Amino acid sequence: MNLCNAALVGRAGRWDIAIRDGMVVSVTPHVSADGGCVNGIDLSGRLVMRPFADVHLHLDKAFQSEAMPNRSGTLTEAIRLGQIIKANMTRSAVYERIMRGARAALSHGVTRLRTHVDVDPVVGLISVEAALEARAKLRDVVDLQVVAFPQEGITNQPGVAELLQEAIRMGCDAVGGIPARDPQPEEHVRIVFALAEAAGSLVDMHVDESDDPSDLTLPLVAEYTRRHGMAGRVAAGHCCSLSAQEPARRAGIIESVRDAGLHVITLPSTNLYLQGRGDRVNVRRGLAPVKELLAAGVNVAFGSDNIRDPFNPFGNGSMIQEALILAHAAHMGGQDELATVLEMAGHRAEAIMDGCHPDRLPGPDIRPGMEANLIVLDAASPADVIVGQRPPELVFVRGQQVMSRQEQLSVTAPFGENETEQGES
Ligand SMILES: [Zn+2]
Repeated sequence: MNLCNAALVGRAGRWDIAIRDGMVVSVTPHVSADGGCVNGIDLSGRLVMRPFADVHLHLDKAFQSEAMPNRSGTLTEAIRLGQIIKANMTRSAVYERIMRGARAALSHGVTRLRTHVDVDPVVGLISVEAALEARAKLRDVVDLQVVAFPQEGITNQPGVAELLQEAIRMGCDAVGGIPARDPQPEEHVRIVFALAEAAGSLVDMHVDESDDPSDLTLPLVAEYTRRHGMAGRVAAGHCCSLSAQEPARRAGIIESVRDAGLHVITLPSTNLYLQGRGDRVNVRRGLAPVKELLAAGVNVAFGSDNIRDPFNPFGNGSMIQEALILAHAAHMGGQDELATVLEMAGHRAEAIMDGCHPDRLPGPDIRPGMEANLIVLDAASPADVIVGQRPPELVFVRGQQVMSRQEQLSVTAPFGENETEQGES
């Protein structure tokens, strides 16, 4: 199968991509032969990219707001609703939510997902079991990583350390953590790293989801990453309070994050929604300092975090939508910056899932010898993807077409009969 007449990221001109046995076998300049595209699809200059990766979301909670909406929109009500929902959680309901969330993501060209699932004395391993079942079911279409997440803390929750250990033994890909929710933050971090090192698994922690500069465990996570020799295998999500530090202090912490080889995952929509609520003047955006982190050489990706749950009523699984929110919130609207934003849902995110050292990022290229995991977009460039907000038209996983989107919105005169554009999903 061939994808002909395609635009590619970072390369001028039009290209033909040959796919055999699920692999890309060649990428060659397009020859505009009269015979058109032999054994394939003529893309007429559409952009072909690798699919997106969403490296931080809570699929076990996705769509919960449909049944139990957060009427006040406050964090207090979100926590209260979350506890009610948790007490009545079933494995099959969690499985259905994960599958629905993964389907939504796939429809937006996301074929790699990292979900945190709660592990605590109330839900036990229900969500882990559901997520591992979904991971197996989705194997041929979506690469799902599962993080065992002690949402309510570890040292203050009897049996949670043992539950985490069991979750890893069952096959979870990463140990999660949230030191801010634990009365003993350092002991929390110590336990997470000890479990991960013993099992050879990755670490992905919720770090400093706060505007308060005194909530600061990021240096500790960087130090443990260095101490355990886990450069590239640890991700810190949120890192909001880093933006609240004085510039000199912030620069020093960013340097230690880079030196430790720690990845950072920013969660723009949820942070914008939840942070800054105590501010009466100059309400903060609440994001990690994305541009400063990138400029210092830290690998940064972004995730959608919550999809229509008590913590955030928005989200549809689209990394293109999340990219637009990030571009606004982080002041990244320049042409090159927009390309960087898209990389943060591309190879920069994949590096996190692959446990890749930030100094050895793989790059966005589509090369012979790689799996033919590709998406086709009605766009001319990465910047155009974000500005245009059109969802992918086609998704291929190992050469197999797993999603297509055909619908068209037609706009009548006086706009002109040629004015058509992709309809909203
Ligand atoms: Zn989260």
